[in-house]
Amino acid sequence: MSRKNRHYNYADVRYQISGTMQCCACGKKITEGPYRYHETADAYVSCHRACCPDDPKWLAMDQAEQESNERRRLFEADVLAFYDKWGGLDDDDFMSIVAINR
Ligand SMILES: [Zn+2]
Repeated sequence: MSRKNRHYNYADVRYQISGTMQCCACGKKITEGPYRYHETADAYVSCHRACCPDDPKWLAMDQAEQESNERRRLFEADVLAFYDKWGGLDDDDFMSIVAINR
């Protein structure tokens, strides 16, 4: 498989451990933070994010996370504004209104 077409997976040590977790670039063990890996016939080959910073996927992932955080922040602000105005309501009421009108 050519390097260009290699399929990388992106993960973080907090959530996922893949194979030996030995970085293929610096040779050190990956013990924290983000990393990428790809599968070969007999192993997972991992690489620290810091050891492959030119991979454009990292930037795209950062942006997606920022957008997700921003969306969450706006959502929470709306929820609190709604709550301040109307108080709590049960989900059935909320969803039946949406179901009928949307
Ligand atoms: Zn490394």
